[in-house]
Parts: sequence; structure tokens; C-alpha cells
Amino acid sequence: MNHRGRQENLRGQLASCRLDALLISHLPNIRYLCGFTGSAGLLLVEESGSVFFTDVRYATQSREEVEGAGVVIARKALVTALAERVAGMRKKSNEWRIGIEADHLTVAEKKRLRDLMPRGVQLRNAPPLVERARMMKDAAELERIRAAVLLGTRLFDRALEVIRPGVRENEVAAEMEYAARRAGAEEMSFPTIIASGARSALTHGRASSQAIANGGFVVCDFGVILAGYCSDQTRAVWVGEPTDEARRAYDAVKQAQLSAIESVRPGAAVAQVDTAARKVLRRAGLGRYFTHSTGHGVGLEIHEAPRVAQGQDEVLQPGMVITIEPGVYFPGKWGVRIEDIVAVTARGCELLTPTSKDFLAI
Ligand code: ZN
Ligand code: ZN
Repeated sequence: MNHRGRQENLRGQLASCRLDALLISHLPNIRYLCGFTGSAGLLLVEESGSVFFTDVRYATQSREEVEGAGVVIARKALVTALAERVAGMRKKSNEWRIGIEADHLTVAEKKRLRDLMPRGVQLRNAPPLVERARMMKDAAELERIRAAVLLGTRLFDRALEVIRPGVRENEVAAEMEYAARRAGAEEMSFPTIIASGARSALTHGRASSQAIANGGFVVCDFGVILAGYCSDQTRAVWVGEPTDEARRAYDAVKQAQLSAIESVRPGAAVAQVDTAARKVLRRAGLGRYFTHSTGHGVGLEIHEAPRVAQGQDEVLQPGMVITIEPGVYFPGKWGVRIEDIVAVTARGCELLTPTSKDFLAI
């Protein structure tokens, strides 16, 4: 991973944001910029270099992982160590503006920072510079995402072996998660969703102790983390003899999903992609049952920029990796969703998820 290049790129944007330095506190952003994978750290990026602060637990790990930044092992609170360092660094100029990741700091943390910083240091809410950079994946990141998607997709094969009437949702999730770890996944990218019966109409029905019944969809939404990168996929299978209504709804969702994927290309607005899916469902008379947005960026985090939704003004660019996941939900009855990951290419997009989307009844 080109950590030094990423920090250089960030440094090049400081002046135009009228900042002297940027304090990174969001761990995925820290990982992106310098490679540190632990759970405690602060990264200060400024014109002349970067300094990474962590605690003694990560002394060894940080020396192995961190690239492009000096490492400070703090024997006290990280913010205290940071404030002391800043006090030493800014002798030459009176005013120092440090950008902070306002969305990733609690009110208490912000106050603490303000209280500790030496006089003359101003803390400013910085624009989401790292999140913006992270939207465009480089070749090494795409490679990792591809590998995560391929590992993740195997879990659905396992699910199909397990799903049958009488089996609890939890058991299906457990088998999938066990298979994931066996296959080398670091962890799941979010709590596995196995939603059967009326629970399939919940957009986020985490696996429960409910037994799978005959006659309904089982929505499986799952993902793994491999080498830091997330996968995310949804498939729905019908249990028992399928009804015409179920087939129709499934087909409409599938067509909506294909239409949205078709619309993914550089220069397309994310809202257009959302519209492409919504249009198909509206035409099928199911528009009002599609109650969430069409997709989201995925990478080091399971949900990251851009959001593929109405009201978002992001324009797709090569290297962006997004999910396409329309669904319809009939409260109290059942629901169905289909989700794949696509990577935006120079001309259109590459579908990363290889799993079939044919209607499946068990
Ligand atoms: Zn998902
Ligand atoms: Zn998703």
C-alpha cells in the first residue's frame, strides 16, 4: 500500500483548506494513511512530515506497521502527548490551524483537545479529505476487495447447504461465519443478516433464534473482512413452493438491480444510479416498497462514501467501489433484496460478485 503517497496527496491539500496540519483520529483513515491496524492512535499530518501517536500496547506493532510517519509511544493520554508535541513544533509561527475530523470526535474529545492545545493553536473542522481520497481505490485495494468478495461469496454456498424449514436463523449465520474464519477471513464485516418469514421484510434483520418456516424468503446479507477490506453481498432464497407473487417481486428486484448496474459508469451521478433501480420497481408497481437507498461505497469500512442515493451529488469515477442493493419489503409478510459489489472502470463497471441471481427455491 502506498501510504507515503497518500500522505503526500493529503499534504498537498492542506494549504487550499487553509490548514497547517490535519489531525486524523478515525482509525480506518489512520490505517489508510499509514498502515496502522491497532485500536488506539492519532496521526498528525503537517507540511514537514507526519507523527503517529499510540500507547505502549502497540509499541511493537506500530513500529512494524506504520509507514511515512514518526512514531511516538505515549506514556500518557494520546491527546496529551499530541498537545506537547504541537507545543514544541509551532515555535516558529504564532498561529497554527489544525484541522480535526469533527464527525469522528465526541464532544468531550473535542473539548479535551481544545483545553490541552497550546495558545495560538486553532482547531478547525476539516472537510472529509481522507474519505474523499478513499473513494477511489488503487490497484492494490481493488485486489484486496476482489479477494474479500470471492471469499465472502463462498459463504452463500454454505448457507444453501444449511437453509431448510426448522433450522434457526442463528444456526445458518453460525455455519457461514465458521466457514468464513476457516477460509481465512479476519472477521465478518457486520453482524450476519439471516432474515426469514416476516423478518425478511426487515431491512436489517440480524439472524435471530427464529426457525425458518415453509413459504417465504430467507434474506442472507453478509460480508467478510480480508486484509482489512470488506465484502458485502445479499441473496434471497425462497423456502417451499414459490408463489407467483414471490417470483414477480424477485424478478422486479433483479431487473432493478441489473438496470442500476447497467447505469454505473464514470460521469454518472450516484442519484442517477439510484433512479435506474427505482424506475424499474415503480413500473412494476413496487416503488413504494423500496424503502432504502440503492447502495454505498465499500472498502476499509462496510459503509463509506459515496452513498448511492437521491439527494447525493457525487459523480462516479473510475476506482470507486459501490454496492447495488435494491429490495422490496412487505411489512408482516416478506421481503427480498439482491446485492452485489461493482467497481467503476474507465468505461463502465466491473461486477465483482460472481454469484448467480436466478430465482432459487429450496
Ligand atoms: Zn449488505
Ligand atoms: Zn450493503
